Amino acid sequence: MRLTVLGKSPAWQDAGGACSGYLIEDESTTMLLDCGNGVFGKLRAVRDYAAVDGVLISHMHADHILDLVPFAYALLLSPRQQPVPVAGYPGTDAPARPRLVAPRGARATFRDLTATWGSEGLIDEAFELSEYDPSSTIEIGTLSARLTPVPHYVATHAVNLSSRDGGGRLTFSADCRPSEELVEAARGTDLLLVEATVPRPERTGVRGHLTPAEAGEHARRAGAGRAVLTHISDEIDPAWAAEEASRTFGAPVEVAREGAVYEL
Ligand SMILES: [Zn+2]
Repeated sequence: MRLTVLGKSPAWQDAGGACSGYLIEDESTTMLLDCGNGVFGKLRAVRDYAAVDGVLISHMHADHILDLVPFAYALLLSPRQQPVPVAGYPGTDAPARPRLVAPRGARATFRDLTATWGSEGLIDEAFELSEYDPSSTIEIGTLSARLTPVPHYVATHAVNLSSRDGGGRLTFSADCRPSEELVEAARGTDLLLVEATVPRPERTGVRGHLTPAEAGEHARRAGAGRAVLTHISDEIDPAWAAEEASRTFGAPVEVAREGAVYEL
């Protein structure tokens, strides 16, 4: 199984960057984990979007879903997806319609969002949309995704990924405040891709994110083999973040870079 980081920014993307988006692949399946703003262009730079078998959404925050909109327009409007020959494309009887697997209530949220410009059915038409239970296992091709609810501002799910073709296990924290749920979800994982959004704990209100030091600490308590920080702005020094996390993890921790590939 292979992870390619398409976007690792928090809710505002890095200069030239993208928000949450990760390509998960094995020999026969291509899956996109989250599709935040900027991700569709990054996906196009490395893969054929029509070859994506499914998109899995960890939670319904803007920085994890917004590029489903251009992805949907491409699936519906691009010349290659049309039934008749156009612009040098031969026409197709079987346009790509990837699965989109999203949290409960997602269908209504997508309809409300796209209805603001009069395209209520955009996401439904472009994707084969289904909503998942908070604690379920989802099969997309030969990839398996097991979900665990983690505490954040909205219903949010850590994701454990593995392949029937073999290889190791990847755990994605999604977004979450410090929690036992994340430690349990990541218990014994080979690689924990863990959010490290805030440089210090939020000083007011309900917490929703981890610091780099907390991310490393969660990875250590989970017994993760490796830890990679993500959902972190280019306005935070990656060397500082890596040092903070490495100190609590007890081993070197990397900060995700766009385009980075991890084999599992
Ligand atoms: Zn979030």
